[in-house]
Amino acid sequence: MVIINDIKIAEYFSLYEFECPCCKRVMLSPDLLTRLNHLRMVINKPIYINSGYRCPEENKRVGGVPGSYHLLGMAVDIHVKDYLLSDLLIYAQEIGFNGIGYYEEKDFLHLDIRPGQKHLWKGKELIGY
Ligand SMILES: [Zn+2]
Ligand SMILES: [Zn+2]
Repeated sequence: MVIINDIKIAEYFSLYEFECPCCKRVMLSPDLLTRLNHLRMVINKPIYINSGYRCPEENKRVGGVPGSYHLLGMAVDIHVKDYLLSDLLIYAQEIGFNGIGYYEEKDFLHLDIRPGQKHLWKGKELIGY
């Protein structure tokens, strides 16, 4: 078996955690990684990355929006076991992720580092920041 992307890239993260599940390709913004590592330190609990980089085929397969920041290595969807999503949201806002999607039923946050204006949405509804 070929081992790929099994490289520690920050105190709490390895590169494979961000790879595209279909092709193992990966793009990752250092700024995104720094903020995620910061969030991990603040909450002191493991962060599971449901989705990191997506190639265009994978993005289509999972129903991502066409201009998704997942395509640019600038977004992650994260889940933290036994942790209130609303608390996670507060810390994510403090750390300064510019785009935050709050998905209560599925218990995950989308976090991205888009430039410019901040966006916070719940499901498909924009709720400000
Ligand atoms: Zn792929
Ligand atoms: Zn996402």
